[in-house]
Amino acid sequence: MRIFSKGFNFSQDGPGNRLVYHLSGCNMRCPWCSNPEGMEKQAGKDYSVQQIVEECVSAKPLFFSGGGVTFTGGEATLQKTELFEVLKELKNNDIHVAIETNGTAKYLSELEEYIDYIIMDFKHYDDKEHLKWTGVPIDTVKENYERRCNLGRAQHIRIPLINGVNAKNPEKFAEYFAKFDTKNTVFEFLPYHEYGKDKWKTPYQIKNGFVDKKTIDEFNKIFKENNLVLVKT
Ligand code: SF4
Repeated sequence: MRIFSKGFNFSQDGPGNRLVYHLSGCNMRCPWCSNPEGMEKQAGKDYSVQQIVEECVSAKPLFFSGGGVTFTGGEATLQKTELFEVLKELKNNDIHVAIETNGTAKYLSELEEYIDYIIMDFKHYDDKEHLKWTGVPIDTVKENYERRCNLGRAQHIRIPLINGVNAKNPEKFAEYFAKFDTKNTVFEFLPYHEYGKDKWKTPYQIKNGFVDKKTIDEFNKIFKENNLVLVKT
């Protein structure tokens, strides 16, 4: 498994205290990405499945407050074979596993058997805009969202809010999400930040990406009006 970064955080990438692995490589090219150093699949270094599993098992006493292990990226699902092996072993060891994904894996449903908590990004409701900003069509993201809604499976949808990209028309986002059964879905807005800006080796493309409080309030209001549950308001 190729990993470019790992470490603990609390309640940022799933519940409780978590050991978070950033897997190398991403199929999207979001110009606001805060981990551009991990976009290429050769970034970082290789770890064997056994190394990862042993590290996770020995860290078990630190998984307090419902914590565990999170796989993110880059896009963690791109390393499907290794991820499968690790997930199975962590399940055997009764370790809570979360995954943070951009939602583009057609085989996400196959991985889900071994995953306790899914965080899925949703960057734009509009297909053309999604393709323009990320380089990838949104079809599979929508398929995964809709499938999980239809099955009543829990999911945590994260929407980055970026001025000039997607931070307008909250009713269009809400209209799409609310078409499906969201009783086990929670939503979270991630207002634009520039924590990763200095890591870009090519000129940074986002200008004036910050969103103001009024915009965030409006998104919160429209989502609440559509009975969409927010984890942070
Ligand atoms: S999907 Fe995530 S990791 Fe991939 S480029 Fe976009 S922000 Fe970066």
